Amino acid sequence: MRRIFIKALLQDELVITGGDAHHLGRVMRARAGDRIMVADDEGKVGEYELTGFTEESVSMRLVQYVEERTESPVELVLAQCLPKGDKLDMIVQKATELGVNIIVPLASDNCVARYDGKKAQAKQEKWQKIANEAGKQCGRSRLPVVLPVQPLQRWLKETMQACDDGTAVCMCYENELQQGIKEFLQAWRDAKRFVAVIGPEGGFSLSEASLARELGIASVSLGTRILRAETAAISAVAVIQYENGDLGGR
Ligand code: SAH
Repeated sequence: MRRIFIKALLQDELVITGGDAHHLGRVMRARAGDRIMVADDEGKVGEYELTGFTEESVSMRLVQYVEERTESPVELVLAQCLPKGDKLDMIVQKATELGVNIIVPLASDNCVARYDGKKAQAKQEKWQKIANEAGKQCGRSRLPVVLPVQPLQRWLKETMQACDDGTAVCMCYENELQQGIKEFLQAWRDAKRFVAVIGPEGGFSLSEASLARELGIASVSLGTRILRAETAAISAVAVIQYENGDLGGR
């Protein structure tokens, strides 16, 4: 069933305008009586029956609320240093399918990709669109948010200042020899929120790795092979959901 996301809360009667109304009425040629799924700002989902169309709007009536449980019990943040070319497009799409809630594109010392203000904003919009499409396609009840591109070191400091006891933060570090991500996740069984930081193709610089250590961020290994940035990101998200979230069924 087609799915739309609204910024307001679900009600018995809804009137939508803008892009979704245009898409439903003009592009999909929906008719009165057709049914769609609507997800609201709080992740609540309802099945609606379309009741009327104007040039700019579509009205609809609630048929029933739907209990979906497509959102993981843990909140997941993927902080990804900018990889080359269009690789982040694919990472955003796969991370969305795997249930990530927030994606933070980061500019770090060894990033080859560098975007000025305008380009960074255009990229952010593009990634948000990819996340929205992927979220609709895979039946999420809440869309992930793609934050603006920010400098890695500043973001790490701000994040650790704002962090509470229920948040587990790890940096997947290619030079980590001691702690594996498995051990880390098992030690954080009760965490409500996970943050995974992944480097660019060139890896993390020494000063980034030592800042992370000073801030108390766990440095974790994904194993003995060096993975490409996109493989590392998708694997990290998948194993977090598997160990502590909802991948593998619940
Ligand atoms: N150029 C680096 C590799 C960078 S891989 C080198 O040759 O050493 C890109 C990113 O993927 C890394 O910064 C890290 O975040 C992640 N990554 C890749 N393989 C990893 C591993 N075995 N353990 C932990 N993180 C890994």
